[in-house]
Amino acid sequence: MTSVLADTATPPLTEARASKRASSDRATSFDAIVIGAGIAGLYQLYRLRELGLSARVLETGSGVGGTWYWNRYPGARFDSESYTYGYSFSEELLRTWNWSEHFAAQPETLRYLNHVADRFDLWRDIQFDSRVAAAAFDEATRSWDVTLDDGRRCSARFLITAVGPLSAYTLPRIPGADRFRGEAFHTYRWPHEPVDFAGKRVAVIGTGATGVQVIQTIAPLVGHLTVFQRTPNWCTPLHNRPITAEEQQKIKAGYPAMFELLRQTPGCYIHNTDPRSVFDVTVEEREAFWEKLYSEPGFGIWMANFRDVLTDASANALFSDFVARKIRERVKDPVVAETLIPKCHGFGTRRVPQETRYYEAYNLPHVRLVDTRRTPIEQITETGIRTSDAAYDVDIIIYATGFDAITGAFDRIDFRGVQGTHLKDHWADGPKTYLGLMSTGFPNMLTIVGPHNASTRCNIPRCIEQNVEWVTALMRTVRDRGITRFEATAEAEADWSHHVEELAAGMLYTQVDSWATGINSNVEGRNVRRILQYQGGAPAYRARCDEVTASGYAGMILS
Ligand SMILES: Cc1cc2nc3c(=O)[nH]c(=O)nc-3n(C[C@H](O)[C@H](O)[C@H](O)COP(=O)(O)OP(=O)(O)OC[C@H]3O[C@@H](n4cnc5c(N)ncnc54)[C@H](O)[C@@H]3O)c2cc1C
Repeated sequence: MTSVLADTATPPLTEARASKRASSDRATSFDAIVIGAGIAGLYQLYRLRELGLSARVLETGSGVGGTWYWNRYPGARFDSESYTYGYSFSEELLRTWNWSEHFAAQPETLRYLNHVADRFDLWRDIQFDSRVAAAAFDEATRSWDVTLDDGRRCSARFLITAVGPLSAYTLPRIPGADRFRGEAFHTYRWPHEPVDFAGKRVAVIGTGATGVQVIQTIAPLVGHLTVFQRTPNWCTPLHNRPITAEEQQKIKAGYPAMFELLRQTPGCYIHNTDPRSVFDVTVEEREAFWEKLYSEPGFGIWMANFRDVLTDASANALFSDFVARKIRERVKDPVVAETLIPKCHGFGTRRVPQETRYYEAYNLPHVRLVDTRRTPIEQITETGIRTSDAAYDVDIIIYATGFDAITGAFDRIDFRGVQGTHLKDHWADGPKTYLGLMSTGFPNMLTIVGPHNASTRCNIPRCIEQNVEWVTALMRTVRDRGITRFEATAEAEADWSHHVEELAAGMLYTQVDSWATGINSNVEGRNVRRILQYQGGAPAYRARCDEVTASGYAGMILS
């Protein structure tokens, strides 16, 4: 049996570039340690180097890229327009890198991030195959002691987490998974070698954004596909296509204006909310607008819809009906169509998967949909999956079962702050942060793309750049003023956490179980909704962060 499920199954070093690993793994003491070599960790490293600080990035994987290093499953690709997603900090990088598609696939994004690491000579400060297991603040030395899962240790005055919002993958709690004799893969832990689907009987468990990408991609390739769906999602067309030479030129010439636009939209996407209410227009106008959104590429349908679609239940119900009609039109079997239409949540209150002929996959004679709310999976057997009413023998099981999102990667590290306080305990009733970038009792620690910051409601690299630049400005101040300790005050943390809670009140998504509200039935204790995301929009978030910088770090004690 081939299985890439266990945490210990980190693939061997197959990236050619990983041979350029940190030049001296023997050094153990740094100004700053960054955990994670995804988009956030790479950019933070670049900026720390510019400040002349010694830095080490510690990364579980064997190569750079984070999300794009791990998620190698068939069909993995952006929902952000490629050119809106790449780094904006280097004009030379923007000028020389050509995205081939409007929504690039994973291999291209991974190539891009390797190119960035090459171009900025980042490799020598990144230590791969290095999973951080614990980090403890030492008050006497005002520094963090970091321990890897193999016992290696290092320390730094400053600890910057770039562990990723979607990096703590989860497997379903189904009895018998270890007995299965076929191949089994979690989409996040996809093997580096190609998987042969020809003629195979394949099961996919999960129909979130990842499941949708896998299903639509492998459906035409497999012998037989059984999809196990617990919660259907409102999926809308991606409309991806190659970038023509003419478009390439326009994209390059338009970068300054585009990045200026992205600074102004709430989610840093090129799509901006329509200021009208659903109820401001006639039924005909409404339908025409929605037809237009449905025919256009990307997240416009989610982000550029009428202003009340995500906040007013009756507006939301009207649009959900519109998408339901589309599903009924596209899926031939009416029973299957009804099973694919969400009944327990409205459009956009969970992450909207973007699809390419996803619904048409269910019209193929060899694709079968199993509704696990009606017939739950009871166990995995040696030969397949058994539900309450049938046994499905398969050769391959794909777990598209997602992540313990936003706080999961933090929980998997034993962070100990002042007086040994455990971060997991500090956040037990929901995260408590200041600006989503730090927590009281955890001095000298910064959390890029952490809970409560704008980034997970964002075209993430745009918010990563903002987070990193804010952290870099703080590091510059600290360096210039000889500061060795900073910490958010308890009052600032309480105020910010309250502000984040208030902003989320009234949003329809808070009434729905999803990873964005911290629910994951595969993780012990993840059954209570939490407010994890800042909902005030990236421009307001950025303004607040800038105010804190301009005030000389109000809400923090620097010494
Ligand atoms: C399939 C998929 C598609 C996506 N598409 C989009 C999109 O279109 N647009 C968008 O904005 N966002 C998208 N995202 C979200 C994506 O995660 C972010 O865009 C972005 O890649 C996050 O970068 P990061 O550096 O913060 O985290 P990551 O890319 O997750 O990197 C974090 C790194 O930290 C490492 N790490 C974690 N814990 C430890 C530890 N204890 N010790 C050492 N290393 C550790 C991980 O191995 C990982 O390499 C997508 C996510 C997925 C899964």
